[in-house]
Amino acid sequence: MSTKKRIVIKLGTSVLTGGGKQLDQAHMIELVRQCAALYRAGHDIVVCTSGAVAVGRAVLDFPALPATIQSKQLLAAVGQPRLMLLWDRFFDIFGIHTGQILLTRADVENRRRYLNARDTFGVLLDRRIVPVVNENDAVATEEIRVGDNDNLSALVAMLVGADLLLILTDQDGLYTADPRVDPTAELIAEVHHIDQSLRRSAGGTSTGLGTGGMVTKLQAASIAHQAGSDVVIAAGREPNVILRAAAGEAVGTRFPAPESPLVGRKQWILAGPRASGRIVVDAGAADAVLRHGRSLLPAGIVAVEGDFNRGDTVLIVDAGGSEVARGLTPYTANDLRTIAGCKSHEVVQRLGFAYGSAAMHRNDMILLGE
Ligand code: GLU
Repeated sequence: MSTKKRIVIKLGTSVLTGGGKQLDQAHMIELVRQCAALYRAGHDIVVCTSGAVAVGRAVLDFPALPATIQSKQLLAAVGQPRLMLLWDRFFDIFGIHTGQILLTRADVENRRRYLNARDTFGVLLDRRIVPVVNENDAVATEEIRVGDNDNLSALVAMLVGADLLLILTDQDGLYTADPRVDPTAELIAEVHHIDQSLRRSAGGTSTGLGTGGMVTKLQAASIAHQAGSDVVIAAGREPNVILRAAAGEAVGTRFPAPESPLVGRKQWILAGPRASGRIVVDAGAADAVLRHGRSLLPAGIVAVEGDFNRGDTVLIVDAGGSEVARGLTPYTANDLRTIAGCKSHEVVQRLGFAYGSAAMHRNDMILLGE
């Protein structure tokens, strides 16, 4: 690998603990050794670490706590500084400085804060400091949390413009079925298109200690991939997995970056705000949007769900509920209810005003369907 690359490495709790209840520090050092080798070769490294909650639990000697967000906040508040201390110490062995960045969804929902967060990463990376990122679980509530570090790592990959997002987990990659129950399951070496059947084969598995299963890994892969990163999902215990994935060797499941990734504001639409409503469209409109590169016109709207304002992020779904696109609409939910089914020239007559003929402009949407 000759050119300098930006690599985000997501380390799940199961990788850091090796399946036990405590951190496997020897293995953490081994992972840092690989990161350090890439760093020395001139690459930028960003670590997205889980484990704060698991560390907090161990420090407090496994207290019996209710399964609430408050318990998670408490455990993360205790565990995060210890976790960070270890990463800092281990990178220091190799003469590398680290910096901690704790994020929540709120840091990327607002476009200005999204750009601010991007600058923070830029400042650290320019100084060759390795950012160590986690969700700010100590203050995160249900409404503002990303919720799992797979999706968080995808946001980070997007924020830093990563060439590679490496998601390390306790499985070898993505299989055609759940390998723990289906002996015919095969590892998928390369994925070019994330479609519904792939989502189905990912199932809803989870390891108990961490949060994400293959479903969240696939969501993360989809985001980072559309934003222009190669994504690799592989086993954290595989020897030299970080070095091999960075060198482009066949390890785990690779999602090669598309030739024309989303840029600028579209990236933010992809990752940032949660949808605050849904626009249900007929088959013709879904087809026009998905396959013919058209904007969504009021004529194709069948129903409008939820209450949203001008400029909010909403989902376009077809009559069967499948997601077609996500984007920003210039109209409120009530405006859209009023103009649903109208020809574009009738919009002014119905509303008394118009913000253009589209209910969602092509430039303000990203496609989600197959
Ligand atoms: N942020 C959580 C932690 O550090 C982990 C979330 C996850 O495992 O996806 O414990």
